[in-house]
Amino acid sequence: MRRPLDLRHVVSAGLRDLIELANTNDFNRVTEQVRNLRGCTNPVNLHGWTITTDSATKEVVRSYRSEDEPSGRLLTTCGNRRASRCPACSRVYAADTYHLIRAGLSGGKNVAETVRDHPRAFVTLTAPSFGPVHNRKTDSTGKTRPCGCGSHHTEDDPTLGTPLDPATYDYTGAVLWNAHAGQLWGRFTTYLRRALAEHLGMTQKALNSALRVSFAKVAEYQKRGLVHFHAVIRFDGPDGHTTSPPPWATFDALQVAVGLAVERARLTVESDAIGERVIKWGDRFKVDQISALGDGELTDAKVAGYVAKYATKSAEGTGTVDRTLRCRPCAGRGYVLGPDRFHDRCPDCDGTGQAEPIKALPVQQHVRQMIRTAWALGHLPEFAELKLWKWAHMLGFRGHFSSKSRAYSTTLGALRDVRRAWRLAQAEASRARVGLPATDETSLVTASSWTYLASGYRPGEELLAAQVRHDIAHAQRIKSEGDPWL
Ligand SMILES: [Zn+2]
Ligand SMILES: [Zn+2]
Ligand SMILES: [Zn+2]
Repeated sequence: MRRPLDLRHVVSAGLRDLIELANTNDFNRVTEQVRNLRGCTNPVNLHGWTITTDSATKEVVRSYRSEDEPSGRLLTTCGNRRASRCPACSRVYAADTYHLIRAGLSGGKNVAETVRDHPRAFVTLTAPSFGPVHNRKTDSTGKTRPCGCGSHHTEDDPTLGTPLDPATYDYTGAVLWNAHAGQLWGRFTTYLRRALAEHLGMTQKALNSALRVSFAKVAEYQKRGLVHFHAVIRFDGPDGHTTSPPPWATFDALQVAVGLAVERARLTVESDAIGERVIKWGDRFKVDQISALGDGELTDAKVAGYVAKYATKSAEGTGTVDRTLRCRPCAGRGYVLGPDRFHDRCPDCDGTGQAEPIKALPVQQHVRQMIRTAWALGHLPEFAELKLWKWAHMLGFRGHFSSKSRAYSTTLGALRDVRRAWRLAQAEASRARVGLPATDETSLVTASSWTYLASGYRPGEELLAAQVRHDIAHAQRIKSEGDPWL
């Protein structure tokens, strides 16, 4: 047993902790664990074990216990998608998304390479108008035209996308649109198949037995605080990506069907308080053909790059906050149940239901009004399932930022599993016990048990992580070309 170090003269807590880590039995392993996290901001600390035994001989083939780590725990990445939360994990997410979209367009990662010959489109669907907003339109010569307010806005003008007249802007409509956008997308995909059958003069059944429509989509916020969707839509044969679509399933047919489906996909929302609202798409939508190669056109790589970029952006582009505003102890209600079952004012939020007061948020007036509207609508029982308190900071949108049909490509989970398996194998290899004979892999049984301990680094590890981030940034600066998403 080592004598405890007297580190009282070391001023920095981080440095003190680092010296302590350096004095554990295996400092190389400490640095290796941190290096494997690739600069993650807030790693997950786990405690537990994984043991692989040979079911025939009952012999332990591999074992890994977090107890054997110098710091007594296993660190794994937080996996957060958003750049504002964890730049490192968001880079990994962007890279994964890129490869997922790219595989769906060009093949690879278990997707047939012939998909690049299938009709494929990059589609953008937008929200309708809820009132005139400040804009910066350009004419065919690239000259800006004056905004409705009379002035010429610069590209970075913060008023862009905000209402010309906030008093008459339909905030209720805007928030309800965001809150139903995911459902509207779902309806769009249904109507797309119907419209295709109609356009091609065949029954839905005949179409479905010869053609599969797969898609991958991402949500992006516009400056006006409404989400819009970018989607890759691909035609496959009846058995998915390995089969060719029938010759009549052309890009032109897809283009026509998108137009019809945009027009027809609608939801009606009824409420005593606000009356009847129709949720529909705006008439500005785009359908572009994706080509396998080519300059200046929409290529596989370019589309995958766009999608990956949008997938990590979240709502930050609108200048909103990246955390829920709902008070956790009272779930936004403002009260908790007392011992006598009467309502007691929630002490955490002082009865507002808000974890942070909306009026004090460091956001633009337009964003604040969207959040306020979402909060107010959250009080209506008919909108309970929209969970507007929880998602007020997302301006009502609670859908998935990226999603895809099962047939499109490989999954993010699969990509993550590969990486996790590889890491675990590395961890096990570095701990492997020597002298065990090689065994038949088919008779192996793996059991494991893991519990969550905490999130974050020890102060000393934080210093090591800072070094890792520095190294990664440095390597990126040096790398002048190649895959920009890695
Ligand atoms: Zn992370
Ligand atoms: Zn203006
Ligand atoms: Zn509360």
